[in-house]
Amino acid sequence: MKDKTDVLIIGGGVIGVCIAHYLAEAGKTVRIIEKGEIGAACSSKNAGLVVPSHVIPLARPGILTQGLKWLLDSKSPFYIKPRIDFSLLMWLWKFMRSSSEKQMLKSIPVLHELLQESYKQFEKLAQKFDFDWTQNGLLIICKTEQALEHEIMDARIARGIGSDVRILNEKEVRQLEPNIEINTTGGVHFRQDAHIEPALFIQGLVDNFDPKSVDIKSNLQATDFIFDGNKVHGIKTASNNFYADEIVIAGGALSPSISKQLGVKIPVQAGKGCSVTMTEPKELPRIPFLLSEAKVAVTPMGGNLRFAGTMELSPHDLNFSEKRTHAMLARVPDYLPGIDSEALKQLNVWTGLRPCSPDGLPIISKSVNYKNLTVATGHTMLGVSLAPVTGLLVNKLIDGNLSEFKYNSLSLNRF
Ligand SMILES: Cc1cc2nc3c(=O)[nH]c(=O)nc-3n(C[C@H](O)[C@H](O)[C@H](O)COP(=O)(O)OP(=O)(O)OC[C@H]3O[C@@H](n4cnc5c(N)ncnc54)[C@H](O)[C@@H]3O)c2cc1C
Repeated sequence: MKDKTDVLIIGGGVIGVCIAHYLAEAGKTVRIIEKGEIGAACSSKNAGLVVPSHVIPLARPGILTQGLKWLLDSKSPFYIKPRIDFSLLMWLWKFMRSSSEKQMLKSIPVLHELLQESYKQFEKLAQKFDFDWTQNGLLIICKTEQALEHEIMDARIARGIGSDVRILNEKEVRQLEPNIEINTTGGVHFRQDAHIEPALFIQGLVDNFDPKSVDIKSNLQATDFIFDGNKVHGIKTASNNFYADEIVIAGGALSPSISKQLGVKIPVQAGKGCSVTMTEPKELPRIPFLLSEAKVAVTPMGGNLRFAGTMELSPHDLNFSEKRTHAMLARVPDYLPGIDSEALKQLNVWTGLRPCSPDGLPIISKSVNYKNLTVATGHTMLGVSLAPVTGLLVNKLIDGNLSEFKYNSLSLNRF
């Protein structure tokens, strides 16, 4: 392929790869520049949940009070590393403003529409290649009445917008997964939700690329831009310069540092999370669980079981807090007594940086300063779930076909 393509994407995570898929499907030539291995940053070892039920954004009323309590606890699932960082302070300010009821009610229908469209795309993609697309729903399990009440409140909001939800008592939870021992007061079953093996999904998309349409350069970092006036012509790397008519920044949590060189501010903070994967456990659920108070996702993947959680707003390092991770894993047997937490603690810990936007909606937007620059990031905890729709929307954005409603809700200008 030539040094110039129709579109050049910086970042080969699930977002960059999905964007390439939909652009290529629309007949465009695409190049992905990825500084590491495709999908290896945040996109392959996450919980793999595709959750149309998750219509309530992270920024919501009550989150600040809860967050402040967690901040004082070194074993809590949520943490902000104390540091003097202007961009973090600005982000927290925007997050605080987005946590109002009014803003949450504005975000819910937007997220709902995006998640539903993405879900339909997953169904279509599952016809083309195998990525363990499993539509068994998601079961939220609670230990305490208080947590159950909270989950039921959220379930009612989701139901109000059309989610297929069942509220379950203790007996009904057990009936749903009779082969697993579960300690619970009750739960909520989001029946439309699904799960995938995220690494298989990314690999499947890559394997289906026609090399005449999509060129992947991995282990190559975009170091600078070639631009003048209001146009970006291309990027520089240690080996070559690459040119394109349109440039897309899909660098996940690193997107702000990429766009900084153009003077474009992207309000995204890294939200570090971790996972461990138990191979062939004795008990394998059919349905993924969310352990409500512990904030742990438990996803069956092939014959394995993945446990994922924690959210640490921290600088861009992948070190994990052993105390926090072990505290998270130690809570698993409270819900699932058949799981040996000591065995969990021996497993290799993977960490990834979620690209967190202040209002919990993704940023899928043209830049104001550069007419051929698009930003696609900020998917926070929903990057897998929203990847296909992001690909579709970026294609529309580049063609100038995005509806005004979506444009405004997802635009960089909203902050
Ligand atoms: C523990 C955990 C569990 C999660 N579970 C779920 C879940 O169940 N469901 C769900 O929907 N989401 C989940 N998520 C969120 C999801 O993983 C992320 O939102 C998603 O992976 C973000 O994808 P991305 O492509 O934007 O970022 P990334 O995967 O980080 O990809 C960005 C890429 O850009 C590259 N890059 C950066 N700078 C440059 C440069 N200068 N040059 C070239 N390349 C560059 C990076 O190397 C990276 O590969 C989870 C996240 C975590 C941490």
